[in-house]
Amino acid sequence: MILRLQRRHVDLLRQEAENVQPVEACAMLFGKLSNREAVVEKVEITPNKLQSAVKFEIDPAKVAAAFTEAEEDGLEFVGLFHSHPAPAAPSSIDLKGMKLWGDALWIILSSTEGNLAAYQLTDDTVKEATIRIE
Ligand SMILES: [Zn+2]
Repeated sequence: MILRLQRRHVDLLRQEAENVQPVEACAMLFGKLSNREAVVEKVEITPNKLQSAVKFEIDPAKVAAAFTEAEEDGLEFVGLFHSHPAPAAPSSIDLKGMKLWGDALWIILSSTEGNLAAYQLTDDTVKEATIRIE
């Protein structure tokens, strides 16, 4: 899977992660999807309801509103973003969450190492996606 992000999306995500540190930042990503590629067109910053440095939860009302708005814009749900004060790999909590979100991409920013990585659960296996910033 290839995940295409625009530079301004990445800047927005990094900015949010910096603003809310040490709390995990989160966002929902929308755009166009195919089997091989996800093209992000919109980043919706969604506050971490738990205000936690180790886990995140997005207010279900915010999730519903973001889905409705994206649908009106003709965009599909691409995935979830959050930041980690640790390496950009899914935590055990994330792995449980991934099972609930189907084939959504999980984009993780390491606030300690600064790198961004994306993962997708396919057939019970976590696979890393290739991120292209353009
Ligand atoms: Zn996590």
